[in-house]
Amino acid sequence: MDALKSRSGGAWMKLFDDRYKGTLWPYGSGVWGKREWVMPQCRDEHIVSTDEGGTNLFWANRYGSELGVPDLWVKMCGNSHTGSFKDLGMTVLVSVVRQAISEGLQVNAICCASTGDTSAALAAYGAAAGLPVVVLLPQGKISTAQLIQPIAHGALVLGLDTDFDGCMKIVQQLAEEQIVYLANSMNALRIEGQKTVAIEIVQQFDWEVPDWIILPSGNLGNASALYAGFKMMKELGVISRYPRLAVAQSQNANPLYLAWNAGKREVEPVVAKPTLASAIQIGNPVSAPRAIKALEGLDGIVEQASEQELCDAAARADRTGMYCCPHTAVGLAVLEKLVNRGVITGSDRVVCISTANGLKFTEFKASYHESKLPGLDTSQKNPAKPLPPDFNRVVDAIRERFSSAAKATVTRPPPG
Ligand SMILES: *Cc1c(COP(=O)(O)O)cnc(C)c1O
Repeated sequence: MDALKSRSGGAWMKLFDDRYKGTLWPYGSGVWGKREWVMPQCRDEHIVSTDEGGTNLFWANRYGSELGVPDLWVKMCGNSHTGSFKDLGMTVLVSVVRQAISEGLQVNAICCASTGDTSAALAAYGAAAGLPVVVLLPQGKISTAQLIQPIAHGALVLGLDTDFDGCMKIVQQLAEEQIVYLANSMNALRIEGQKTVAIEIVQQFDWEVPDWIILPSGNLGNASALYAGFKMMKELGVISRYPRLAVAQSQNANPLYLAWNAGKREVEPVVAKPTLASAIQIGNPVSAPRAIKALEGLDGIVEQASEQELCDAAARADRTGMYCCPHTAVGLAVLEKLVNRGVITGSDRVVCISTANGLKFTEFKASYHESKLPGLDTSQKNPAKPLPPDFNRVVDAIRERFSSAAKATVTRPPPG
């Protein structure tokens, strides 16, 4: 930090702006464009980048206006090489491992336990670097797209008959006995990359800090990464205040919610129940102590969303042009609760972090729109209508649905 302080906050902002999404390799990457803050020791020839970061900040004006928070933005971290924010951390981890191998580190394989997105990212970056990868997945508990990603990249894919927490236990032992190199977010290299999402959000607002960040969370590494990014910006004179943090958990996997709201500062593991937000079906979050620090530092709160609430939020968001993964939907459902409770108000600038791309969760979308979610109300469903190739029947169908002329919603420029 002392070395970084030799440059002023303003000079850092200028440097990062000059590099942002540019063509000079590797600075076009949202992570490596901030390399001095992330991993200055990594040399160019070892960097494994897929141009991660630089994802769009979607102004969710129509959705936000419906909820009474027109200054709502969704940070689309899923618009990334492997479809989730995990790319931000994996580029750093795999690059550093590649450099370490060139300097003599012996590694059989890089390995992670995953709820589907870490394994996809590790497999892709490992394949790009030509390094062997092993992934441990809870059998039958991730989406088809997530399962196929590491298979396609040639990783050793092990589907264990357990949940994520069971996979995590085994991967930790594999790492302790030095059979593999550990790529889970306990590994601080991941956090160094993931913290750039905080910097990038502020940068996208011309270096202004939003009032709230809502973050769908499971193993809680990303919560600590977000805090690390904000802390660094404050210490280096880029920002002068913090946003507030709302950690969003699935009600079926809510150990942090239970602990924090009971006033406890230690998280007791729970057995996570199945949730449509499968990437956050985690009962024993490894990074819980670091997430507690983030909550303390960012005047944070923890809220949860039920299966029904996340389904409703996803369907509603999709109707306003998003294509919301179930985890992002947990974030949006939590936003709605906080607005209704008056915690978040209509003048707040709010950023909800979209952690993955909705296209990875076709089963979730399909089962909703085909009403195949037992016990859940799917009243916003919009199934396809099969018809014979008959002109009049087509006309009837259009008239039945759209009996009056369309009125477009007017978009006003963003506040502020
Ligand atoms: C990994 C992941 C999360 C949770 O991040 P943590 O750092 O484990 O809290 C949320 N959503 C998606 C889509 C993920 O892949």
